Amino acid sequence: MLDYEGSGMSVMEMTHRSKTFLEIIREAERLLRELMNVPLNYKILFLQGGATLQFSAVPMNLYRKGKADYIITGQWAKKAADEGARYLEARCVSTSKDKNFTYIPADGPEAFDGDADYCHFTTNNTVYGTRFASLPETRAPLVADMSSCILSEVYDVSKFGLIYAGAQKNIGPAGLTVVIVREDLIGNALPSTPLILDYKTHADDESLHNTPPTYAVYIAMLMFRWLKEQGGVAAMQRQNEAKAKLLYDCIDGSSFYESHIAPRDRSLMNILFFTRSEELDKKFVKEATAEGLVSLGGYRTVGGMRASVYNAMPYEGVEKLVGFMKDFEAKNSR
Ligand code: PMP
Repeated sequence: MLDYEGSGMSVMEMTHRSKTFLEIIREAERLLRELMNVPLNYKILFLQGGATLQFSAVPMNLYRKGKADYIITGQWAKKAADEGARYLEARCVSTSKDKNFTYIPADGPEAFDGDADYCHFTTNNTVYGTRFASLPETRAPLVADMSSCILSEVYDVSKFGLIYAGAQKNIGPAGLTVVIVREDLIGNALPSTPLILDYKTHADDESLHNTPPTYAVYIAMLMFRWLKEQGGVAAMQRQNEAKAKLLYDCIDGSSFYESHIAPRDRSLMNILFFTRSEELDKKFVKEATAEGLVSLGGYRTVGGMRASVYNAMPYEGVEKLVGFMKDFEAKNSR
């Protein structure tokens, strides 16, 4: 942290124009391309502003005819659609709102406008614990918010027009946002698009148009190296599937806990479960915290428990949680 490779300086102190930092950001790009098997006709951009800024950047850059399809499977998807509606006709083509977002709508190609500028969806719904097990069937370029599942399972990047993700879950420190965008979608931004939101600006300048979040890029690069050492995304997926199975098996195998989500749509990253009462849920979270099992409270609009088991959570962490769940059940069953 304090002395990068004998330079006597932290990466934090270096100018982003230095040769050293250029090597770091280029290695990060190379490794991410390798890990996700990103084809050469896609640019990888390291940006700021979080996934939320992409809710605006996407419609500004991809606007052609002025209409886009949005699949609304949770609050992040809704926020993306609401922002999109400020620039174009953002059509909600399908939603699972009727059942409080506990499933992924299974729409065929007829639900979508193949002629739309793009079709936006959220691959993993962080708050509601669902995930798309297969991709929407549309001819329009697919735009995916992968903030809470990037690098957790294998995706075929060539099936997407654009992928974006805030780094803070599976990549590195907050402050960095990754955008992977097919080259033909770059260079036609709406004239009113601020230069800093135009993908062309960053594609032309190798993400160095202005100062990027240099330390976050450095940590992301180290994470990509680590991921490669683990065996890459396929190995990570196997581990994530094993972690999720352990937890869902515990939930399904008990009459004390329940999941509200159909097995096919269940997230590998955010695993939601409930006891029979809010009071017991609160007790669970409190006692788990005392055991060092933290951040298990469900989102405020959902309640219950949510175990976020991102790539950094080892299998042993989930084993510990399952052990606690069994003890808690034994002590609190009637
Ligand atoms: N999309 C999804 C799926 C998310 O989980 C989050 C954050 N939890 C966001 C968007 C918002 O990300 P940011 O805070 O980076 O803007």
